[in-house]
Amino acid sequence: MPDVTQTTVTKTTRAGSRGKLILCPHCNNETKVFHFSWLGLICQHCKASVPKYEWLLTDKPVNKITIKLDEDTWRGLLFHLRDTVEHIPVSNVEPDPWDCVTKVINVLENNLRKHD
Ligand SMILES: [Zn+2]
Repeated sequence: MPDVTQTTVTKTTRAGSRGKLILCPHCNNETKVFHFSWLGLICQHCKASVPKYEWLLTDKPVNKITIKLDEDTWRGLLFHLRDTVEHIPVSNVEPDPWDCVTKVINVLENNLRKHD
């Protein structure tokens, strides 16, 4: 007898930091979720309304995407970012975005100077 039972989402299923792929029981297409605090989801492929515990689990890992940029691209991106953020602290708890971008630019520039 082949094992045809496939695991479904249960109360103990966790998404993890990269999210989790779940399969629609109607069309078998994957959907990525980042948490399970919902009762049901509409499948983006077949539009079926699927209750949480009917979604199927898959062992397929979620791929991590890494993008490599050279230092010039980083600098251009950061200078552009610095020009577009306003130099006003938006909250007392979070750091000023302008300060953050400036700090990263300084670190990168120090790094570049070392290579000269
Ligand atoms: Zn579906």
